[in-house]
Amino acid sequence: MSRYERSQELYRRACELMPAGVNSPVRAFRSVGGEPIFIERGLGCEITDADGNRFVDYVGSWGPLILGHARIEVVEEVAWTAAAGLSFGAPCSQEVELAELVTGAVPHLEMVRFVSSGTEAVMSAVRLARGATGRDAVIKFSGCYHGHADHLLVSAGSGLATFGTPSSAGVPSSFAGHTIVLPLDDEEAFLGLMEDRGQEIAAVIIEGVPANSGLLVQRPDFMRLLRSECTRYGALLILDEVITGFRLGTNGAAGYYGIEPDLATYGKVIGGGMPVGAYGGSRELMEQLAPLGPVYQAGTLSGNPVAMAAGAATLRILLADGGAAYSELDRLGATLEKGIAGVFAKHDVPWSVVRIGSILWLALQEGEAPRRFESIRPEAAEVYAGLHRALLERGIYLAPSVYEVIFVSLAHDAETIEETVKAFDEAVEEIA
Ligand SMILES: *Cc1c(COP(=O)(O)O)cnc(C)c1O
Repeated sequence: MSRYERSQELYRRACELMPAGVNSPVRAFRSVGGEPIFIERGLGCEITDADGNRFVDYVGSWGPLILGHARIEVVEEVAWTAAAGLSFGAPCSQEVELAELVTGAVPHLEMVRFVSSGTEAVMSAVRLARGATGRDAVIKFSGCYHGHADHLLVSAGSGLATFGTPSSAGVPSSFAGHTIVLPLDDEEAFLGLMEDRGQEIAAVIIEGVPANSGLLVQRPDFMRLLRSECTRYGALLILDEVITGFRLGTNGAAGYYGIEPDLATYGKVIGGGMPVGAYGGSRELMEQLAPLGPVYQAGTLSGNPVAMAAGAATLRILLADGGAAYSELDRLGATLEKGIAGVFAKHDVPWSVVRIGSILWLALQEGEAPRRFESIRPEAAEVYAGLHRALLERGIYLAPSVYEVIFVSLAHDAETIEETVKAFDEAVEEIA
């Protein structure tokens, strides 16, 4: 009898009803083999599946759950707010509270607008950039994922890389034609393009720290060059902080690199596990949005009280004591990094751990940590599949794709991390 009997039964039913049984492709376990596990509940750093198997969770709902699962302050806030009505489609106090928290923490945000996903945030920010500049072209970097809006679904990392699809069917080439893709970490390519076409560029968009195709930490000089060239040619710099916003620190990747984008996009952590996205920038830019300005963007459930309450409860904890939570997250991340790197060294495998704060990535390849998508070795996927299975057996739940990162939360205590490292030791022993 399988220990995943109930999950398997649910999966069979799901596959009849939803493509591959899932509502987001990477969840389907295609790139690591096996079948997805159906999760029934989570508390702290642990999740329990439909068969009662327990796992230490390093996915954290793909980034949002920086406080761990079902953190009491968040759950209580959500429950109280929900009891007073789920949505009104009219302004509510919770929007004002979350907007105050967000703009109070991030110096370059004078105003924000809330939406319901990271995809929507980025799509809207790009529209705003085009509306404000009167230009069409957008520069993105290969391996960066910015959600599934048509014109950004070009060379976009994990979900797509995993399936070997360079871009999606159903995207007219004329849409993608406004998107210029450059390699990360390549000053020359970027400078050359700006010299040729700088006047046509509405926006340059980059992930705060690219974390959807491994973890491609960029050099501060490269980020600063993007900033200065955008200023020079009148293009807007959009920093996609959907993963890094309120994950790397109170001012996300902008704070880490010391740059000020014109527009920044948020999702994941900002909603504390509820569907929330946001984009923001200067008052002048944001007042281009309808109903004040000509750029249209709207949403039936945007800023709904329950989602706003979850976000606000999460940010209040993260922003308390001058952002003390981030030192703790960094400490936990460092402990896990050191432990796993020690295991790799002990078993003499040429792998490494890349880390920034509480985001880690297993670089299952030789050599320096890659800074470009093109430097990631696709062969690593096979090794990862073996490692993923061996860890799952030992109660450690990693994202089911080699391109995905590990998220540490405040609920991962030292003892759990020690257990995780022990599981890695056994798993690497088994597969190496
Ligand atoms: C997840 C992600 C998005 C898309 O957010 P969704 O909420 O999944 O639509 C956009 N940009 C980045 C950097 C992301 O990691």
